[in-house]
Amino acid sequence: MDPHQAPQPLPPGVRFPSGPGAPCPACGATQTERFYALTGIPIQSCVMLQDPESAKSFPTGDLSLAICHACAFVFNDSFDPARVDYREDYEETQGFSGTFRAFLRATIEQLVREVPSRGQTVLEIGCGRGDFLEQFCTAADAHGIGVDPSRSAGRVDHSAGRGLRFLHAQYGNEHHELSVHGVVCRHTLEHIAPVAELVRSIAAHLGPHPDRWTFFEVPDVERILRAGAFWDVYYEHCSYFSQASLARLFEACGFDLRRLELVYGEQYLHLLAHPESPVLDAPGTVWPTESLEPVLSAARTFAQRCRQSLAQWHAWLQASAPGSVALWGSGSKATAFLTTLGSWDRVDCVVDINTDKQGRFCAGSGHPIVAPADLVGRPIERLLIMNPIYVDEIRRDLAELGLHPEVRALE
Ligand SMILES: [Zn+2]
Repeated sequence: MDPHQAPQPLPPGVRFPSGPGAPCPACGATQTERFYALTGIPIQSCVMLQDPESAKSFPTGDLSLAICHACAFVFNDSFDPARVDYREDYEETQGFSGTFRAFLRATIEQLVREVPSRGQTVLEIGCGRGDFLEQFCTAADAHGIGVDPSRSAGRVDHSAGRGLRFLHAQYGNEHHELSVHGVVCRHTLEHIAPVAELVRSIAAHLGPHPDRWTFFEVPDVERILRAGAFWDVYYEHCSYFSQASLARLFEACGFDLRRLELVYGEQYLHLLAHPESPVLDAPGTVWPTESLEPVLSAARTFAQRCRQSLAQWHAWLQASAPGSVALWGSGSKATAFLTTLGSWDRVDCVVDINTDKQGRFCAGSGHPIVAPADLVGRPIERLLIMNPIYVDEIRRDLAELGLHPEVRALE
């Protein structure tokens, strides 16, 4: 950005505060600092509404991100868990994408190699429809129990698999009576405010058996902070992890880390850990605890980087004719992008390959969600892809439709 250029005014609702935040829910330290605040954002960014009016009047809340100086955990210290109701239809499957399905397959193959589970029982917290659990149990020849409060829990077709059970509930200590060897938890911990409570509960559930295991997948916050990725901050994501804070939390709760790495275009973190005592034959058993400094420094520079990305995308939208832009990917990223930035008149629609979302409307902005084929005949000149990992897949889809808009992608 030109240093002589006057700073762009921030969109209404965006602030970069300073000062102490609430005590850290991950490690309990009181040395925390607020650095990003949003007001009036949808309390669920992944719900798809039936009509534009209910989408535009969807309930909103405030967000205030703080970072812990002791463990680098980032959290929304204004979060009110009572406001987010996961019993509602919560549509977050990415299973329509070939890129995502390939990632899921590779994740399962690696996990089955690392923790052979034939005949054992694996519990998945926040299983959603149950796609991952069904595929893991089939590949591993294991039994599965899925726990999830949403209405769609267990909707996967599991007629062919062995012993899958689904419980419509929030996971808690009352589930400790279930005998399990492994606990899977993907894209759920970031929705939980008392993170240490949950990880301690899993440690207690598994007990002091180093042959048992837990596997987590969460978004990586370090990338979000470095990229000023305001489209990756949502109300229902109250907890944001980096390798450093995830390692500290699991070690403090009595786990030995076996694998902790960035995956999926460095967007997600994978963690595999065993309760207590080292697993002697596992490669990479000794985990050097990551330094906090890269994350702390990324949080310090977030305001500057985020101002730049807000100004960059504001200018890009303003340079577009009204109604000439389509976003591709109607998940949380699109909702956050639109509600944080505004300029809604420039955007005509949001494309999604998930047939369950097509015909519905985005929370907050009320933009219609359409199928790729619906782009034909719409006045789209510019297309913004919400997740760079899908660029090749989307370019192929566009070519098949004979469409040639200018294509950009978020970082
Ligand atoms: Zn902390």
